[in-house]
Amino acid sequence: MRHTRFHAVAALAVAAALLVSGCGPRYDVENVRARADEMSARIMEAYYDSDAYGHELDVAGIIAEYRDLADPGLVRFVGSLRDREQDPRRRKQLDFLFYDLVSTAVWHGQARFYDEIANIEATGRVTVGEDEFAYRDLGIELYNETDSATRKRYYLALGEFAVARTNPLRKELIDSTRERLKGFRFSDLDDYEAARRGIDFDAFEDGVVAFLEETNDIYLDLTSEAAREVFGVEVTEVEDYDRGRLFRGAEFDQYFPAGGTVGLLEDVLLGMGIDLGSLPAVRIDDEDRPDKEPRAASYAVVPGEDVRILVKPAGGVGDYESLFHEMGHALHDAYIGVEEYEFQRLGDYGTTEAYAYILEDLLSDERFIEETGLIEDADVLRRFLRKQLLSDLGSARYYAGLMRYERRLHRGELSEEELVAAYGELIGESRLVPLEHPEFGYLADNEDFYGVNYLEAWFLAAQLRAALGERFGETWWAEPAAGEFLKELWEFGAELPPEEVAQRIGYDGLDSAYYINEVRAAYAAYR
Ligand SMILES: [Zn+2]
Repeated sequence: MRHTRFHAVAALAVAAALLVSGCGPRYDVENVRARADEMSARIMEAYYDSDAYGHELDVAGIIAEYRDLADPGLVRFVGSLRDREQDPRRRKQLDFLFYDLVSTAVWHGQARFYDEIANIEATGRVTVGEDEFAYRDLGIELYNETDSATRKRYYLALGEFAVARTNPLRKELIDSTRERLKGFRFSDLDDYEAARRGIDFDAFEDGVVAFLEETNDIYLDLTSEAAREVFGVEVTEVEDYDRGRLFRGAEFDQYFPAGGTVGLLEDVLLGMGIDLGSLPAVRIDDEDRPDKEPRAASYAVVPGEDVRILVKPAGGVGDYESLFHEMGHALHDAYIGVEEYEFQRLGDYGTTEAYAYILEDLLSDERFIEETGLIEDADVLRRFLRKQLLSDLGSARYYAGLMRYERRLHRGELSEEELVAAYGELIGESRLVPLEHPEFGYLADNEDFYGVNYLEAWFLAAQLRAALGERFGETWWAEPAAGEFLKELWEFGAELPPEEVAQRIGYDGLDSAYYINEVRAAYAAYR
């Protein structure tokens, strides 16, 4: 049973409500939690049905049934309950709920922007010379096109479509988000996100900048080497539409066949003492169906009871990585031990991303690749691990630059021209190569700080790995005790933000030094 504490909590909520309003409860917080939980479950299941079977997705229709959760009065009510709460754990629970309700209230009014952008992209047509393409198909054409001049034309057409068609809406959306947040006494999304996570974003950005500076030389060397190998030119000569190929590593696909993915993962988890066969909460669907979304994903329909993984293996290390990643999320959701809605579904997603990275990053672990026999040739293995380092570091540096830029974007203090210039400059500092068309991405690449979860996860996963290695040895992933160690953390669900997970396993807090050290060690080892 997951709701044994229901009555006690409900009684407390009613008592607190009486206290605040003075004339009887205006809101029933326990009912709010139940409604929010139900809405999450329905949205999760709707995404699952869409991705698994191609069913039409109508998230807006579901959300419309829960308008009561988007009530600004409810937000203020929960905020004042939180401010009066003395018990630290209950206060944290109400804090999570408060921030979630703020975002529900803000984003409820924004649905039309998201719908419009999605519709424009779904129905948009792009003309390239004599040919006309659906906007969404052209991205795939660009990826598969082998002729560089044609790629350039596709790339420019896609960028110009974004500038002309979706950028104006994206700008309006960002500005209206800021205005709506002001209604809840946040100056902007930067302020809200920092407060929600309980992080000082200035200090966090300092850590991110230090990470960039300390890995500049390594990254320049790795990208330069890849540019010479792949294109025979210096990295500054590689066109923006070709850059993805520096990180691709198609030559290694043969070592990661499509059929081996799920079986390998099951074996690895067994070594950690996790038998998926006796864990009914997690179901993997790896059937090949035409309507199935190719990207692996995990869906916590009911945390602790019904967690589904979809995967459609096509082969290549990226396929293995995304299944391992999603299994990290799924195990975190399946082994959840907390019963509160807030600690099951809300909070700082950096925690769950770190558990996802812990499994995903096994595909960059020398001992793991050796012991599983995926790559046996020592020279191939060395080159593969160097490519893994390049792509991992490239992603971390991209999100570092994006976080720095999003802070400036959401504060609303810069003009359009200044934003374009800031995007070019900050992403340029991450890539170490200037951007030719910053206007293509300065709004379209915004992810509203989701990337902060990944940055936290890069740092926390490295700390977790160091802790696992120290306790259970280099091949910790083959020790059932390591599985037990992780299960104990997973039981907390989202109750512990990354900072507190780090403290729980013996650190002072979240620290980028462990990831920087891993990068340095890998760079030195795989020459
Ligand atoms: Zn993830």
